[in-house]
Amino acid sequence: MKPMHTMERILVTGGAGFLGSHLCDRLVASGADVLCVDNLFTGSKANIAHLIGKPTFELMRHDVTFPLYVEVDKIYNLACPASPVHYQHDPVQTTKTSVHGAINMLGLAKRVKARILQASTSEVYGDPEVHPQPEDYLGRVNPIGIRSCYDEGKRCAETLFFDYWRQHELRIKVIRIFNTYGPRMHPNDGRVVSNFIVQALQGKDITLYGDGQQTRSFCYVDDLIDAMVAMMETRDHITGPFNVGNPFEFTMLELAELTLKLTGSKSRLTFLPLPQDDPRRRKPDIGAAREMLGWKPKVGLEDGLRETVNYFKRTLLV
Ligand code: NAD
Ligand code: UDP
Repeated sequence: MKPMHTMERILVTGGAGFLGSHLCDRLVASGADVLCVDNLFTGSKANIAHLIGKPTFELMRHDVTFPLYVEVDKIYNLACPASPVHYQHDPVQTTKTSVHGAINMLGLAKRVKARILQASTSEVYGDPEVHPQPEDYLGRVNPIGIRSCYDEGKRCAETLFFDYWRQHELRIKVIRIFNTYGPRMHPNDGRVVSNFIVQALQGKDITLYGDGQQTRSFCYVDDLIDAMVAMMETRDHITGPFNVGNPFEFTMLELAELTLKLTGSKSRLTFLPLPQDDPRRRKPDIGAAREMLGWKPKVGLEDGLRETVNYFKRTLLV
């Protein structure tokens, strides 16, 4: 093993969450020295339990709304609850996490001259009038609704990233992540994939909001991590923002039916009111990521869902 100081030191904020824990796995496996910073609001030690004890992995319990003084070469900034149920639970903290968190991590990157990647979101497009969404679409976001703490917080974080780039020549990378799913999603986090699978496995009604005709495009976690790492490794002048997701578009009704098929469940469908500001359609234009990262998603919805169903079967049974 190389001595620690010659290894690349990588900070992952939100590293104990769903995406962050998969990213930590990938970075540790690549031989990096990984510092996972998380306040464990929606993440858990269970997600990274298999990494604890490895000499190249460290967990620090810390809230990114407070300054952080560490020495690192690269920063992946993922800290922020991502499911509507969780980010709406304490909306003021959600905005603080995105905005103060970005300021603190950008300040850190500036001090230690680190590269920094922001996990932004398709929510910056709000409920879009342009379909599919290209990066130069400026979005249709309600600034005062129940999703605004997340959407506007993430938009402001992007503003901060690009101002640090223009003003301080920081090496920034911004990706806009579209709905991603896979093992280690929180079973109660309210996101549609985990909700439907858990409901199907427990024989409970499948809760479709609205008429179930709203669409999303679902990306399997492994594909997403490939793109995230590829983005970090691009040359200095490449900033993004790049959309990252799987462009195959499904209605929530189609997702419910596929989940029933894969689980063999007899659960019934039940229709509940559509939440406020719920986007009607969402599908990424991934032309820029294809061209600039040489990346495209490989895992289709049925294969990815099967893996996710197997994960929930294992975890719900223990
Ligand atoms: P997640 O909720 O599983 O992970 C977020 C992590 O951040 C958790 O471990 C949580 O404890 C931590 N965290 C929250 N507030 C914090 C704070 N103030 N200080 C330190 N840690 C904090 O969600 P995820 O799906 O893994 O999302 C990770 C990132 O990717 C988020 O920034 C999210 O906005 C972004 N994203 C995810 C998706 C998706 O579909 N999964 C889509 C778009 C964007
Ligand atoms: N949804 C649903 N039933 C659920 C959870 C979500 O029909 O039990 C819908 C939700 O209204 C939205 C879509 O599924 O239209 C995706 O919701 P999610 O919270 O996963 O992500 P986001 O809305 O942030 O894309």
